[in-house]
Amino acid sequence: MPLDPDKIDDLNKTLFVHIQLPNVPRPSFIWNYFGHLYKNPREALDLDRIYCKVCFEKIKEEYPDASFSSVRRQIGTYSATSSTGNMRNHLLAMHQITEAQAIKKTTKHIVSMFARNRDTTSSSQLKEKLGHQLTLMCCKDLLPFSIVENEGFQDFLISNRIVNTKYDIPSRTTLSPLNLNKIYTLQQHQYSLRTQPFNEAHTGESIKDLVSNVLNEFGINPNNVIVVSEYIHQNFRN
Ligand SMILES: [Zn+2]
Repeated sequence: MPLDPDKIDDLNKTLFVHIQLPNVPRPSFIWNYFGHLYKNPREALDLDRIYCKVCFEKIKEEYPDASFSSVRRQIGTYSATSSTGNMRNHLLAMHQITEAQAIKKTTKHIVSMFARNRDTTSSSQLKEKLGHQLTLMCCKDLLPFSIVENEGFQDFLISNRIVNTKYDIPSRTTLSPLNLNKIYTLQQHQYSLRTQPFNEAHTGESIKDLVSNVLNEFGINPNNVIVVSEYIHQNFRN
C-alpha cells in the first residue's frame, strides 16, 4: 500500500515504527532498528518502505507536534527491497551504531567521552566517534571547526587521556565538510524582514545600526546573526 502523507498527520500520538525480526536463522542486527511505519492500533501504513526507528524517535522527541509529512525527509527511509548494507551504513553514519555496539545505548553526549571507562573502543572507532561529537559540539556552541588544531584543545584531550596522541584527533576537514554533511542536510530559507529607503552615507556603522534596529524589532538578537557580504570591493571602492 503506497503512503499517502496527507492522511498521516499526527506523528506523536498514533504513528510508530514497528520492529519485527525477520523469521530467518540469523537476522541482521539492523532489524533491531528498522521497521515499517504503523499506526495504532497495529495497522501497517507503508509496507513499501522501511523506516529508521532511531531517527523517528529522535524527531518525535524534538518535534512532538509536527506533522509526519513535514519531518519525514529527516527520517532514514529505505525501499523494502533495499539491501541491509545501506541501512547498516545509515546506522553507522547517523547514529554511530555498529553491529558490535548494537546492544549498547547509542546516543551519547560529548561528556560521556570524558568518562574513564571508554573500555574496548578501538582507536579508529574512537576517532570516528570523536569526529561526530566534536562536529555537533562546534555547531551547538558556534565554535570554529579549526578548534581541533588548537594546541590548548589538543593538550586538553591528551592530558585527560581522551586520545593518546594528537594524531588520534580527527582533522578539521573530517569535521567539516565530511561529518557536517552527514549530520545536517542544509535547507535554505529566504525571508525579507523589511525594505526601506536608506539615505544616509552607507558606512559600516550606519548599516550595522539599521540592520540591528530591524533585528531588534523582530526580537532577533544581533549577536546570533552572521552577516555575509559579497562583492564588497565593488561597492566600497574609493
Ligand atoms: Zn536513522
